Formats: sequence, C-alpha cells, structure tokens
Amino acid sequence: MTDETAKPKRVLNRSAVKVPMREQPPGERIYNFEEVPLGYTPDEAVQEAQRCLLCRDKPCVAGCPVGVDIPAFQQLAMNGDFEGALRKIKEMNFLPAICGRVCPQEDQCEALCRLSRKGEPGGVGRLERFLGDYALTHDVNVTPDVAAPTGRSVAIIGSGPAGLTCASDLAQRGHDVTVFEALHRPGGVLFYGIPEFRLPKVTLVREIDGLKKMGVKFVMNYPVGKAESLTAIRARFDAVFVGTGAGLPWFLNIPGENLNGVYSANEFLTRVNLMGAYKFPENDTPVKPMRRIAVVGAGNTAMDSARTSKRLRPEVVHLIYRRSRLEMPARQEEIHHAEQEGIDFNLLHSPTRIIDNGKGAVAAIECQQMELGEPDASGRRRPVPIAGALKVFEVDTVVIAIGQGTNPLLLADCPEIERTPRGTIVVDPQTMQTSLPGLFAGGDIVTGGATVILAMGAGRSAATAMHRYLTTGSATPRAETAPADDAPDEPADTDGP
Ligand code: FAD
Ligand code: SF4
Repeated sequence: MTDETAKPKRVLNRSAVKVPMREQPPGERIYNFEEVPLGYTPDEAVQEAQRCLLCRDKPCVAGCPVGVDIPAFQQLAMNGDFEGALRKIKEMNFLPAICGRVCPQEDQCEALCRLSRKGEPGGVGRLERFLGDYALTHDVNVTPDVAAPTGRSVAIIGSGPAGLTCASDLAQRGHDVTVFEALHRPGGVLFYGIPEFRLPKVTLVREIDGLKKMGVKFVMNYPVGKAESLTAIRARFDAVFVGTGAGLPWFLNIPGENLNGVYSANEFLTRVNLMGAYKFPENDTPVKPMRRIAVVGAGNTAMDSARTSKRLRPEVVHLIYRRSRLEMPARQEEIHHAEQEGIDFNLLHSPTRIIDNGKGAVAAIECQQMELGEPDASGRRRPVPIAGALKVFEVDTVVIAIGQGTNPLLLADCPEIERTPRGTIVVDPQTMQTSLPGLFAGGDIVTGGATVILAMGAGRSAATAMHRYLTTGSATPRAETAPADDAPDEPADTDGP
C-alpha cells in the first residue's frame, strides 16, 4: 500500500560542477555592449538548485553580508516555486538581479559552500540572478508593503546601492523619503560605472521603479554641497543618510598624467556608460578615437575599463598591473572574461611615466618591470623593481583605474563631522550615526571603495538605527543605552491611569 500523503521524494542533482550558463561567444561580444552571460532557463535553475545539500547549519549564510537564507530559497527553487524563492531572497536582499550579477560570490557565500569539498560550490549567484530576473520578466509583484505614514521625513544623499537600500527600508517603515542625486540617473556606480555588458540597465530601472511605487521621491541633478548645503538639508529633514560613495579618482602621480588622452576610469566609464559615448554621434559626449589603449590597475574598475575599451574596436588593449595574477582584486569571472576577449595582460609592470607625442598628447607609457619579493604588511608579496628592466608600450590612450577616494564637496560646510585622514566619514559601526546626531552614513563614503553588497548592508543597518532614532529619539538600541546612575530599573509608566 502507498502512503498518498507522503512528501514527494527529493530529486538530487549529484553533479560536481555548476549547471553551465550560456554566454555570448568572445568573438561576437567584443563587437557589442550586450550582456555576456545569458542566464539560466527555468529547467537549468531547478537543476542547479537540486545540487544544494540543504545543510542544516547553513555555512553559506555566514558568508552573505546581508544574511540571505540561501538553503531556504534553494529548497523552494528546486521544486519550481520561483516566486516563493524570490520572496525569500527579498526578505534580506532588495536587489537580487543585481547582486546575482556583480557580487564576488567566490569570496562570500560560495566560498563557504560544503559542495566545494568535492567539486564546484552551489551556483548561489546564478540562481539569485535567475530569480531576480524572473520577477522582472513575469510581472511578479514583490514590491514590499508600506506601513502607515509616520509623519517623519528623511533625506538620502546619493542613489547608489547604500542609499537605495536605506530608502527602501525606511519607506517600508512609513517614513517620507526623498533621495537627492548629483547625476541625472539614479543608481550610483551601478548606473554610471558597471557597463551594460555586465549589468543591463533595465534591471536597475525596474528596481528603482519599485521604490517610486513605494512613495520614494527622487530629486536628480542635485549635488548636495553645491545645489544646497548639507546643513540646510539637515535642517529641512528629521534625519539624513549620506551615501555619496567614493567617486574621486586616484592618479599615479607620474610625469605625463595631464597629457591629452589620459582618462581616469571614472571619467572614461561615465562617458561611455552614462553618456553613451559608444553611440557617438547619435549621443554627443564622445571619447576621442583610440587605437592603442593602456589600462592601469587590476580591480573590477580596471577590468570594466579594459573590456569597455575593447568594444570601442581598437587595435590593442594592454592591462598593466604591478603585482601578479594571484593578487588581482577583480572578480574571477571578470578576469576570465577579459582574458577570453583578448585583453593583453602585463603583470608585474609598474608605470613610471607617460610620454608626450610632442603635441601634448599621449605617445607611449613606460613601465618598470617588477618581480615578487618578501611579503609586505598586507601579507602579499611585495613587487620590487628589476634593475634596468624598462618596457615602453606605444599607446594613444591611458586609463588610470587604481582606486577612488571620497569627494570633499559635500562635507565642506560641516567641519564637525568626524573624518579619517583618508577623508572617509567616521560612524558608530553599530548605528552608522556620524558625530552629528541625526546624520548617518554608509557605503563607500565610510569604507572607501568596497562592494555593492557591503554598501547595501550598510544602508540596511543605517535604516534600522534611523528608524529607532526617528521613533525614540536615540539611534542606540534601548538595552545598550547606559542607564543613568539614578535611573529606576523599570521605566516609569507615565501614561498609566
Ligand atoms: P555609489 O555607488 O558610488 O553611489 C554614490 C552616489 O552618490 C552616486 O550616484 C553619486 O553621483 C552620488 N553623489 C555623490 N556626491 C553627491 C552629492 N554631493 N550630492 C548628491 N549625490 C551625490 N562592486 C561589486 O560588488 N561588484 C562589482 O562587480 C563591482 N564593480 C565595480 C566596477 C566599477 C567600475 C566601480 C567604480 C565599482 C565597482 N564595484 C563593484 C564597487 C561598488 O560599485 C561600490 O562599492 C558601490 O557602488 C558603493 O555603493 P555606494 O552606494 O556607497 O556609492
Ligand atoms: Fe546549499 Fe552549499 Fe549552502 Fe550547503 S553550503 S546549504 S550545499 S548552498
């Protein structure tokens, strides 16, 4: 006799490798700006979820900066309940279609996945991306409910992942939220930095539409610090969150950096991504024609600059980095894609000068060749020059992608806000409150250049503390507020009969 009420037997996929994801072939994709990985079909998503062991102790969750319940969403996805799986992710992560594409999963959740003992980890990022896209393509309404209005107002300065997450969490709690953004499109680096072939903008636009439906107001072309001072904004709102990122480029400080044809990665990517320079003359903010390009650096920004350059159809793109491949900070997938696309990697090369063509423009970049020495304070082997080993690359364009700092404009009229010598804002790590009560900060403006998910985590922590501040007058949780010496053990019940 069979037991008709028994649960269906769980289907396991015992494959040691991830279900592969189809991609545009390298020979085709270097001629367009369309997305490179093409995503899973529903069948592929179910198969990948069926690899998950549903570990009871959930090691992968400890690796997720926002604590997504990874086995719980995979359990729903393996049974084809994509809407349920998506709702589960959205409890903790407001931008799954974006994080599935850009998070460094290999250093986070997937690094701790038990499947790695015998093969590849679970494809957490690929599933997150599939589920995020499923909502966008199947008209699934996952816009969170919004609580009754509290009558309290909040200004969010900067619309990157930190600001957007903070805005979403505060709007859900019933606060009146206004986002101020210096540029004409919201999204921060997600819009102006990360190229279309890695993060299609439609994904971001739909998520931002969801915020607007929740009542969040966006004021664009509004650089706070110039259009209106931070002090004035602070006076107009009950609380303020600063999420202005780290958009001020660093340079190498070598001769020739002011020549025509030298770009910061920030300017280069903004011109191409935000202004659509690759559609020139249809769009009217060009980059100058380039034949031979050198990109300096090895993080995500450098990979994005090199791969974007490649799509502008030059003869060659050299990537120049002073350490070895092991130390390259970019996501593994980006390095792999850059190699596939024919970027010429020159590791252990450190630029010494940019050479003038006699007319004030770039003719070449000279580099000192390096070798690895003893480990430095960071634990990485220090690159040391090889005496007399110089190499010259003939180029007409140099893109500097060695990192970014914070822009001092916003804080100019608020010297009382404590900052580090690097210019980042100092916050209480638990509440994200700055030295100015009611003013909170998070994301790259606090950490320096980091990751999307860390910025989102900071936006969420700040929102929790800001809600507390708006409703109780203190950002610190009640149990942790030090009692005054003469305070009673229990608060007096002043409202009682
Ligand atoms: P941002 O995203 O920088 O947003 C800040 C916003 O504030 C911007 O829109 C800016 O215009 C606005 N703003 C600044 N000043 C003012 C002002 N005075 N008034 C009003 N608005 C203002 N991370 C990953 O996890 N994965 C990746 O693959 C990845 N790739 C990257 C590629 C590039 C090219 C770059 C530059 C970064 C990349 N990062 C990546 C890092 C990641 O994008 C950042 O850590 C993250 O965007 C930080 O978020 P944020 O909200 O703090 O700031
Ligand atoms: Fe699934 Fe890996 Fe997390 Fe275990 S560690 S629950 S196998 S994703």
